[in-house]
Amino acid sequence: MNQSTALAIDAAPPTVADVLDGLLHEEFTLNYQPQVDAMDGRLVGFEALARWHSPRFGQVSPLLFVNLLEQAGHIHDLWDGILTCASSDLPALTTGFGNPLHVALNLSPQQLQDPELSSRFGHWLARRQIDGSQIHIEITESTLLNSNSTMLDNLDRFTRDGIALWLDDFGTGYSGLRHLRELPVAGLKIDKSFVDRLESDLDDFRIVSAITAMACSLGLKIVAEGVETEAQMQMLSQLGCTTLQGYLIGRPAPLDSLQQTWASRPIN
Ligand code: C2E
Ligand code: CA
Ligand code: CA
Repeated sequence: MNQSTALAIDAAPPTVADVLDGLLHEEFTLNYQPQVDAMDGRLVGFEALARWHSPRFGQVSPLLFVNLLEQAGHIHDLWDGILTCASSDLPALTTGFGNPLHVALNLSPQQLQDPELSSRFGHWLARRQIDGSQIHIEITESTLLNSNSTMLDNLDRFTRDGIALWLDDFGTGYSGLRHLRELPVAGLKIDKSFVDRLESDLDDFRIVSAITAMACSLGLKIVAEGVETEAQMQMLSQLGCTTLQGYLIGRPAPLDSLQQTWASRPIN
């Protein structure tokens, strides 16, 4: 970083007012991280990840701005911004890479407390002629700790629209396995922390084995996230993970850069 850039970046962390200001000035974008079939490496979809490049604060971690917006009750503003970006990108992402692909969107707990969320999203998809089967919704396992009827109604409506529901960061949320029977869950995303230590920690290897065996017997799919090495990729495929995501396969990137790297690859 040169000195002029360093001086331009504010050292104080952004406040929620700064985040809202950034949303207002359309400083937010979406990056998309590829997900591939663990068996044959075929591209199956993307996870949409929000990015904020602020002229004042530089690149701000989504963990920070999602948390700020959640605490201030403004997470819906981020969702509106995300839908604006997704609106122009989704047609190209779902149909522009040869195979029909899905796009996974992240929802945080507070969003699911909005009783209108799923019906509004259903109408949004219908207006754009996007089929629900092309959308995945990711909620963290810990979201379910405080589930209530509004949240469950939203999840139910999503699945009635054909949207697949995924439990993110699985293995870290202590939500209890009964949710896997009670909710219309399509699959689990094994948390990166387990993937990281798969090769070095026998306990983590056993946990991932147990999660994949259980998911398989319940007919659930499994994404392993944070795959960074060939060895992890091989172990996860052998353990029965259906889908892989991580820097080894591809970093989150804007649509145009994905079109250059992925659209030119041969279709399996
Ligand atoms: P997440 O949903 O668990 O997303 C995966 C995070 O892991 C992303 O971080 C991704 O860039 C990173 N990642 C993926 N593969 C690798 C890898 O191989 N190595 C390493 N070191 N990291 C990897 P990111 O983009 O910083 O997002 C962090 C979190 O912020 C997300 O975790 C999600 O909880 C939240 N988030 C991001 N975008 C949104 C959004 O649009 N809405 C909501 N509600 N939350 C979002
Ligand atoms: Ca996620
Ligand atoms: Ca995750």
